[in-house]
Amino acid sequence: MTRTVYLNGDYLPETEAKVSIFDRGFLMADGVYEVTSVLGGKLIDFAGHCARLRRSLAELDMASPCTDAELLAIHRELVSVNDVTDGMVYLQVTRGNPGDRDFAYPPAETKPTLVLFTQNKPGLADSPSAKTGLKVISVPDVRWGRRDIKTVQLLYPSMAKMMAKAAHVDDAWFVEDGMVTEGTSNNAYIVKGNKIITRALSNDILHGITRAAVLRFAREAQMEVEERNFTIEEAQRADEAFITSASAFVTPVVEIDGAPVGAGTAGKVAARLREIYLEEMHKAAI
Ligand code: PMP
Repeated sequence: MTRTVYLNGDYLPETEAKVSIFDRGFLMADGVYEVTSVLGGKLIDFAGHCARLRRSLAELDMASPCTDAELLAIHRELVSVNDVTDGMVYLQVTRGNPGDRDFAYPPAETKPTLVLFTQNKPGLADSPSAKTGLKVISVPDVRWGRRDIKTVQLLYPSMAKMMAKAAHVDDAWFVEDGMVTEGTSNNAYIVKGNKIITRALSNDILHGITRAAVLRFAREAQMEVEERNFTIEEAQRADEAFITSASAFVTPVVEIDGAPVGAGTAGKVAARLREIYLEEMHKAAI
């Protein structure tokens, strides 16, 4: 089926949506993005994604293509015309097409490029990995220093996913100065007793929208949350480990660099947090 996608004000068949070769997103990875999950035809934590998009744009002095209300209307229209029950909406804003290549940012009046498309993922919330857990390897974190901005420069995360694939595991955790930063496309956590440990927010990691919600729910459920660095060795010795992201929700990690985490099976805390997260997010979906 040909999807209907959104490009700069128009809803088009995906085969007809064209972006210039001079677009800064294409030439410079000068763009930011968001991925919002859709469950039961509704958007999960849309406000959180909008807020982070605003922050990413502001950090890069990039013009905003439209208001939050307009973005919501576009998301809803795409979900509706493409008949998405479970899946996601991908949104990208670039600094647009200045008509030539230059390192300097183009004049402010250059119109940003706004692209949105949907991805159908039937049964998104029932992924088998929620039960089996993920195996991960550690890889050096050689990404740039502003990982808090959600840019489209995803080459190293792609390379890390390929390293994981070559090692016959599911994903990779980045390590910098001996400490875990985050997963290739998710935030990383360990569990010790009733305590959830995850790296504190800084420019070193993406400020996950799912992370914010999960930590809030954990505190509300009287779990202890400690925001601090941890090593791969500490993670291997922990009771449990898990990751969070907008499309994986809360997913257990059962093996790190070949060593089992805890019992080597999906843990109770991760399962409970996933349950609470999905329940609360279903209720608040729009
Ligand atoms: N860290 C990185 C590097 C990511 O790419 C993602 C997914 N976008 C996350 C964390 C999780 O963020 P979120 O919960 O907002 O999807």
